[in-house]
Amino acid sequence: MKFAFVVHPLSEESKALFQMDDGGELLSHWEKGNLLEICNFVQDAMAESVGFGNSAAPTSPTVLDRFHTLETSSGKSAEGRVYEIPCTAQEILQDPARAIQQTEAAVRMAADWGAGIVGLGSLTSVVGGHGKYIAENSPIPVTTGNSLTVFAAIKNLYQACSELDIDIRRKTVTVVGVPGSIATAAARLLAPEVGRLMLVARRHSPRAVRIAKELQSDLVTDIPTALSQSQLILSATSSGNCIKPEMLQSGSVVIDVGVPTDVTRSVRRRDDVLVVAGGVVDVPQPFLQKSMLLGFHFGLVPGCLAETINLALEDRAECFSLGRDLSIESVNEIGAIAETNGFSFSHLSSFGRPVEDSMWSSMAKVIGRQRIEEQQLTTNRCSHESPNGDVFRHYKNGNGKHKDSSQTIQGNGDPKSFDSPRDNGHTSAVKDGQQESKKRCDVANRRARTLFHRYVNPVLVSLTKQSGLNKTFVRGDGLVISDAEDNRYLDFVSGFGSLNLGHNHPRVVTAVRDALSQQVLGFCPSAANPHAAALAERLVSISPSGLEMVFFCNSGAESVEAALKLARAATERTGIVYCHGSFHGKSLGALSVTGNRSYQRPFGPLLPDCHAVPYGNLEVLERLLAPRNMAAFIVEPIQGEAGMIMPPAGYLAEAQRICRNTGTLLIADEVQTGMGRTGTIFASEQAAIEPDIMTVAKSLSGGVVPIGAMLARRDLWMKAYGTVDRFALHTSTFGGGSLACVAGLAAIETLVEERLPENAAARGFQLLEGLNKLNHQMPEYFRDIRGQGLMIGVELTPLTESVVTHLKRTDSSGMLQYLMSGVDEMVRSFPTVFQMQILLEHYHIYTQVARSNPLVLRIQPPLTIDEAKADHFLNAFGRTCVLGQKVEGLFDEVITRSISGQHGSNHDAEADHNTMRNGGPQISTTPAEIDEQCNS
Ligand code: PLP
Repeated sequence: MKFAFVVHPLSEESKALFQMDDGGELLSHWEKGNLLEICNFVQDAMAESVGFGNSAAPTSPTVLDRFHTLETSSGKSAEGRVYEIPCTAQEILQDPARAIQQTEAAVRMAADWGAGIVGLGSLTSVVGGHGKYIAENSPIPVTTGNSLTVFAAIKNLYQACSELDIDIRRKTVTVVGVPGSIATAAARLLAPEVGRLMLVARRHSPRAVRIAKELQSDLVTDIPTALSQSQLILSATSSGNCIKPEMLQSGSVVIDVGVPTDVTRSVRRRDDVLVVAGGVVDVPQPFLQKSMLLGFHFGLVPGCLAETINLALEDRAECFSLGRDLSIESVNEIGAIAETNGFSFSHLSSFGRPVEDSMWSSMAKVIGRQRIEEQQLTTNRCSHESPNGDVFRHYKNGNGKHKDSSQTIQGNGDPKSFDSPRDNGHTSAVKDGQQESKKRCDVANRRARTLFHRYVNPVLVSLTKQSGLNKTFVRGDGLVISDAEDNRYLDFVSGFGSLNLGHNHPRVVTAVRDALSQQVLGFCPSAANPHAAALAERLVSISPSGLEMVFFCNSGAESVEAALKLARAATERTGIVYCHGSFHGKSLGALSVTGNRSYQRPFGPLLPDCHAVPYGNLEVLERLLAPRNMAAFIVEPIQGEAGMIMPPAGYLAEAQRICRNTGTLLIADEVQTGMGRTGTIFASEQAAIEPDIMTVAKSLSGGVVPIGAMLARRDLWMKAYGTVDRFALHTSTFGGGSLACVAGLAAIETLVEERLPENAAARGFQLLEGLNKLNHQMPEYFRDIRGQGLMIGVELTPLTESVVTHLKRTDSSGMLQYLMSGVDEMVRSFPTVFQMQILLEHYHIYTQVARSNPLVLRIQPPLTIDEAKADHFLNAFGRTCVLGQKVEGLFDEVITRSISGQHGSNHDAEADHNTMRNGGPQISTTPAEIDEQCNS
């Protein structure tokens, strides 16, 4: 259906929204793309229609913008126009009669054009009885759009509270602008949800008093008084500029729905206050290019425009949101419609810019500090008052009644619908409970990802989202990991070898729990720790012979640091030899011997005298060690991070011989290969080597407590540290802590008693055999399958060049551009990422791509895996490979045909081509459908 939307020229305040007043600062909105082109276009358009430039100001409504066909994912469509009347906000308020005349003229123009509904933007809806008068005289239905504005404002408030971890049920919320239609409806929706509601009206009018009574809330006529009592404010007046910086307490959040804006721009200077543009809606992504306005402001539009669009999309040629008393049912109804049509409310903006992570974190700091102070106050008060003191005083609502604290302390509600219909039926209660719990999980998940993005690693979060791995796992039990909704997945990554015993092995957990309940000593520097002593003895007993001294630390990298230092101190040589492709950790010393330039480059200069040799090449090694000036050769028995690279047979034993001949120490890095992973407790056993130094970490404590260890020959240790002035040269505060050692002892006993290395060998054989069969069936899909025990890598064939070029061109998100240096690799890794996604989404099996070799899928389940689970994996993997091959074949065919121009003459290819254009081939969504595809 066609729709029209009537607006008035930008006032000074709303101009600020677009930052057009700061001498061309408009540019700063558009950080990427053809900025100048966009800005010139926008400024010209504005200048033409609102008289900013030299052109004469129009005297009748003009068409400001056109919305070319807007289409939802479910196929609903609408097309529209924006009409602008030649009256500024101030003029509208001074001369409402003229504004009404102009609005009516605009409505008539819209009707003549064929619009089925017209929305009244900003003040055009306020004059003329909140749309009622215009509607009475309009040839087509009219909406003020206020219902969706209200819905959006409340959603915006909830979103801000969720971002800042504010429990609105325990807070006072002030609504400014009662008895206006938006403020009143917002107050009605908020009343049952908040701790206390305060209403601000210009005067004690009968309507304002009636509303306050109905909502059992306080009514004040003085904004500063109200704002001094609350930090959550929703403001919706039509007078503007009524909230000044000095009125706002530190930590205040204002949802500003005012037109013109209620908060003065000078508030921008405060970083302890957040002003959110309220009533704002995020339009679906595909709509952005369909009009100037939609693409202009980060995809955010006012709720009133969004309501008009949604009514048009629904073909609802009926009046909506008229009058001062908005129906709460209609607010919820239009909100639900908008959400179904792909509109969202979670992107907040402040003074014309999206609220950035830095803004959230500075607000979170202010609020966090206040929370601590509040808690201290409460504690002090409790200790001074009688044991029955009223500690819940601040939960009181406006009525003076207590809310039940078990109901109020429930995290941030984020109700989809603000109504809470009552239903006493058992089934619906269960359903409601499930929905509620799902909603809570969604909120918790989103929050975890938001906080991780904000405070830990934004790129990681974006990348996992890109590759469809945006899961938040919260529990682990054996082979199974679960997300917050209790969806269960088989873990075939095992923390890259940290969880050889599976998640939370009961024996290890019990040992740790017992130690804690017996008040085990934590750390006591310079005293012999009995648990460290016991673990050292046990570790030595299972390690290659010759290794007798143990240094405990907390990670793999630290164990490597200890090994390098010991080698230098014991040999009095400085040179360290390492392998291309190796991974030994990311601390500066370990990084210096990690054979991956992209990890090293930003941190140079690294340790001097470190030399890389090709993994598996004995000649180069022998040549380098011949001058007998190298302290050590550090090597992984199997290179894990590099993509499960196996050395040639006999390589390690021969390397050991060369080391011995040249007085070079052999350091075996068994951080990943150790603790049973490859079929024996240490891989050195199978390689028939007895390293001089060995590093262990990851699974040493069963993945329950961080731990690392370096083992060395006694003579080396004595030479390096065996004197009074040297015994404490290398230490670590937490190394050898009781809990880690208790866990370590339990982990070793479990490993040995449950014969897990043997199981790793058997299951590894089973998996490799199954994978090799697959390789036989579809040799062009695989490049290599390799591994030992349960350290397995599946290397897939890269995509063809034509497909790579095409995918790079269709990088709509810009993520590949962002990762410029790795673009080719990223695109080439498509087969593995695809495989990983399908395994995760459809078979609930979690795998990972090798970081240094993205064509390799790492298969590394816990060593506790049984035959049936291994078979289940092979089955699922086989099916995803068949599907993967089909998809790649389709890519290849479509692109090849489109390059050679065949798609025009071939019906099937055209269909395929269209599929590609619509976001790639359709992938079946259920295992059953995948099975069907595989069998077809
Ligand atoms: N050495 C090897 C062989 C590794 O695989 C790793 C980690 O993956 C490390 C050292 C570094 O261990 P961490 O991440 O605990 O520092």
